[in-house]
Amino acid sequence: SLLPSLFMAAVEQAPVAISITDSRANILYANAAFTRVTGYPRAEIIGRNESVLSHKVTPRALYEDLWRHLTERRPWTGTLLNRGRDGEPYLAEVTIAPVADAEGQATHFIGMHRDITEVH
Ligand code: FAD
Repeated sequence: SLLPSLFMAAVEQAPVAISITDSRANILYANAAFTRVTGYPRAEIIGRNESVLSHKVTPRALYEDLWRHLTERRPWTGTLLNRGRDGEPYLAEVTIAPVADAEGQATHFIGMHRDITEVH
């Protein structure tokens, strides 16, 4: 089947930053838009935690709400203040969803975000 390589190409080229993590938010995969939006080359971001994107001014309660959703196997959408590789903050519209295995266990997460700093 051509589907696996088609899926790979589609996700790789999608115009939204996409990353796939393990259950602890360690990045296993990031697409090309992720590098464009965050400034992190792929080789530098694989194996690091999504929290490298955190601008530490974001209220803790927001992250707790995010993780409450994820641990209850629900997706979360919200706006986070992220920090790119250059240290510059940007406003990110983020959706994170659990990826369940055949037994229904959320073993991984997929994150999708866009820089909405320039949107008025
Ligand atoms: P953390 O050490 O992560 O802790 C913050 C709070 O979150 C903790 O008090 C705890 O309640 C909770 N928490 C953290 N890890 C877990 C866990 N594994 N299970 C249960 N609860 C937990 N953050 C961003 O700022 N920007 C992003 O773009 C972003 N994208 C993400 C994409 C994906 C796919 C995932 C899974 C997470 C993403 N996160 C993102 C969240 C990120 O993993 C951090 O939780 C967040 O950045 C806060 O980092 P921290 O170091 O300040 O705190």
